[in-house]
Amino acid sequence: MTAVAAPTALDDLRRALAEVADLQRAAAVLGWDQETCMPPGGVEDRANQLATLLSLAHERFTSPEVARLLDRAETEVAGLAPESDEGSLVRVTRRDVTEASRLPAALVAEQARESARARPVWQEARQRSDWSRFAPAMERMVDLSRRIAEAFGYPDRPYDALIARTEPGLTTARVEGLFAQVREAVVPLLRELETHAERAGDSLMDRPCPEDQQMAFALRTIVNLGYDLERGRQDLSAHPFCISFGPGDVRLTTRLGRTLGESCLYSSIHEAGHALYEQGIPRSLDRTPLWDGASPGIHESQSRLWENLIGRSLPFCEWLVPRLREVFPATLEGADAATFWQAVNRVRPTYIRVDADEVTYNLHILLRFEIENELLEGRLGVADVPEAWAQRLHDYLGLERPGDREGPLQDIHWTDGLGGFVGYTLGNLVSAQLLAAVRRELTDLDGRLARGEFAALLGWLRDRVHRHGRKFTPDELVRRATGQAIVAEPWIAYVREKFGELYRV
Ligand code: ZN
Repeated sequence: MTAVAAPTALDDLRRALAEVADLQRAAAVLGWDQETCMPPGGVEDRANQLATLLSLAHERFTSPEVARLLDRAETEVAGLAPESDEGSLVRVTRRDVTEASRLPAALVAEQARESARARPVWQEARQRSDWSRFAPAMERMVDLSRRIAEAFGYPDRPYDALIARTEPGLTTARVEGLFAQVREAVVPLLRELETHAERAGDSLMDRPCPEDQQMAFALRTIVNLGYDLERGRQDLSAHPFCISFGPGDVRLTTRLGRTLGESCLYSSIHEAGHALYEQGIPRSLDRTPLWDGASPGIHESQSRLWENLIGRSLPFCEWLVPRLREVFPATLEGADAATFWQAVNRVRPTYIRVDADEVTYNLHILLRFEIENELLEGRLGVADVPEAWAQRLHDYLGLERPGDREGPLQDIHWTDGLGGFVGYTLGNLVSAQLLAAVRRELTDLDGRLARGEFAALLGWLRDRVHRHGRKFTPDELVRRATGQAIVAEPWIAYVREKFGELYRV
């Protein structure tokens, strides 16, 4: 289908953007290698190589040539449908170029430098569980985030700029509204579940699980979900992640643990959710700014959907547990699908975000989001963060004040600046919205899951989410997929129903 006559500015633009993508992907390969195989001595050389490749990519992307081609390409695609590949390519590239040019290169470089400096400071402060050691670095990160927001511009509140950079179209007020709904539903639900804690035992998760079989089992499981090994592989790393070098090479990593609860299975399913998304973005969008997930929040909706809404559902456990028992007979002895299902869904307030269950997880994000806003708007001083943290932890999760290590020093995110958490909750909300739409349109989803038939579900996600790549904003994508922009109600209904059943309340 040729909508425009060749040779065109659009063709030349595509060529320039393909070079940018190649440079970024070469950097990604180096990043993957750093996390999986590189010896510790390689850190400094690798930092130089990455800086060189990424600055070449940035220079090329913000070059006068790309700007000129983009101007001409805009005229060429003026008559095309906004959702066409060509129309979307030009629109999204324009947005990216505009954003890249709003931030002065010196500010971007300063942020990279400060964040590289903040990292070892954070590590040491965390080790000593002493917020005051990290506070000066945090002051600089708050100041930088504020200056980035000012340079980027925002309609109302500084956080608007930080959201606009990652989740275009969303505002602080919108996110606050979604969080308020979540909090009002979850806090009372949590109190109710806690009074019936004995109804969901999770001791199964503490049983030892042989490490040598974990990776192979997890890999077989995610291949069953649809992960294509012709275009992927699984390796070990300290922090699991998914990374792509193009449609033909989408990798994930995982990590082992001694017990069933710490085994790599659910971490692999989570990363496979990210990987299935990227393997589903069409080749026609390859080597352009459209070949990527729509946003961190939409990306997280895919990983959470597979990990939690599917992976921790009873029908999935019915399919999984007999397979798990074949490989880990001692670990699963005497356990059936129902006990396994209860154990992987035990709700228990915890200090650590990454250990949180589905019910409490968003409260961890809410407290970070509130603290970030107060810091940005000058309503909270950096020195008072542990106090503000403790207060909310008590109000939302009913927990007493933690040490700084288990409190505001637990996540690495603030060494990169503020605004990095909100995508997790958006992902949770969107995952439930998508699954509700799947249930409306796909008959007998639970029966399919219990039989290990995942193709229809994956096909739906491919069609409604994956194939669009980065064409649409998060709201627009979700509206096209489900008929409604991002809302909280489906997620609230989902947790009420699921955990009501689990705890018989
Ligand atoms: Zn993720």
